Amino acid sequence: MSKQNVPVQKNQQYEVVFEDLTHEGAAVAKINGYTLFVPKALPGERGIIKVTKVNKGYGFGRLIERLETSEHRVEPPCPVYHQCGGCQLQHLSYEAQLLQKQKMVKDVLERIGKISEIPIHSTLGMSDPWRYRNKAQVPVATREGGLVAGFYQERTHHIIDIEECLIQQEANDQVVQVVKDIANKLNIKGYDEEKHRGTLRHVVARYGLITKEVMVVLVTRTSDLPHKEQLIKQIQVRLPEVKSIVHNINSKKTNVIFGDQTNVLWGEEYIHDYIGHVKFAISARSFYQVNPEQTKVLYDKALEFADLSSVDIVIDAYCGIGTISLFLAQKAKHVYGVEIVPQAIDDAKRNAKLNNIENVDFAVGEAEKVIPWWYAQGISADVIVVDPPRKGCDEALLDTIIQMKPKRVVYVSCNPATLARDLRVLEDGGYKTTQVQPVDMFPHTMHVECVVMMSRVDK
Ligand code: SAH
Repeated sequence: MSKQNVPVQKNQQYEVVFEDLTHEGAAVAKINGYTLFVPKALPGERGIIKVTKVNKGYGFGRLIERLETSEHRVEPPCPVYHQCGGCQLQHLSYEAQLLQKQKMVKDVLERIGKISEIPIHSTLGMSDPWRYRNKAQVPVATREGGLVAGFYQERTHHIIDIEECLIQQEANDQVVQVVKDIANKLNIKGYDEEKHRGTLRHVVARYGLITKEVMVVLVTRTSDLPHKEQLIKQIQVRLPEVKSIVHNINSKKTNVIFGDQTNVLWGEEYIHDYIGHVKFAISARSFYQVNPEQTKVLYDKALEFADLSSVDIVIDAYCGIGTISLFLAQKAKHVYGVEIVPQAIDDAKRNAKLNNIENVDFAVGEAEKVIPWWYAQGISADVIVVDPPRKGCDEALLDTIIQMKPKRVVYVSCNPATLARDLRVLEDGGYKTTQVQPVDMFPHTMHVECVVMMSRVDK
């Protein structure tokens, strides 16, 4: 469609019916075949929209008035829902969110992966889908009335001061409020992004769901932390569950939260948490899944799909701090984990020791290089588990899997589109997708995690 032929005009209003949701959470409406994306509307609804942007192939609109309301619409409980943008689906009932996520996975596996007629199970959700995040990373600034700490308003760097976030653990909300109050009274200045001045950039809080241990990380622009002793003392007094107070220095002009230098100010370097029976040490910088309750659900599924016996050799590609590897090691003969970030592998080794798990080996490197090298050395796997980042698996890794011929591949994915692409490659290489299980790790957002079981067809 050339731009002249587009059947809508910017700033004009139209009545539309909404059909579907995109993976960003906007509703889809069509006017004479032209697609418009409209946030905060829902499939099945009818309404008046104002067109806000017109591109050649598609445009955007804003919902002005709802004429028909979906039976799945609910009032978002969060008071700042419309400014924040962190959650995209609070206006959709939780049951409908779970159905929507299952549908998204099904659609994309069919469209991109050309995979149909496979059971895509109902999304495994939370019985109480609130207060699930175990990590808060909150930007801080100074305004006329003192410090503000909250989140950036959607598509801006304007901080909105908030007292609570309904998907955050209450303990983390409390850390942020109390630290803000203490810092305010000590007259510590928040960071000014434009002028690159001020001190306190972020307050990071981490929480062990099972252990209830709390870590506070203060990220500052300057290496000097004013009133350090008083700050530490007051955090200890007012937040007795805090086990660790850490200082991170980030003097750069950047959006990245952490700088390179991290010092423990008081207490332990690590807090701990459990997933099932496996204990994990978590430092200020460790990667650790943010929804531990659902992580257990996800890993239990991965373990079920791996269907291990005590003679099986397993490779865990993209192993992070070894979370899945250590889970699998409970059932397998031996697990080899590989991960690109050296500090994550240090954590993985530490976690293996912490649990007295000896049938694991961890290596630093790119999965697509290390696994072919292992294969050349004679290390082959009965089961391979992959849990790649959003961009999916490297082709070289998929080729090696096809050559190595493990009897099963378990694919853990945070992006259905790259999952579908990779499943197609593996299907063409002799595997059959046998089960697909969506898991809701991030209620009220559009994210969906999947665990997939693939079995070798020609044995
Ligand atoms: N399985 C872990 C981590 C999954 S996140 C868990 O469940 O906690 C994906 C991981 O892949 C990240 O830790 C990232 O650092 C790592 N990674 C990214 N590219 C990689 C590559 N080419 N080879 C190995 N690991 C990689």
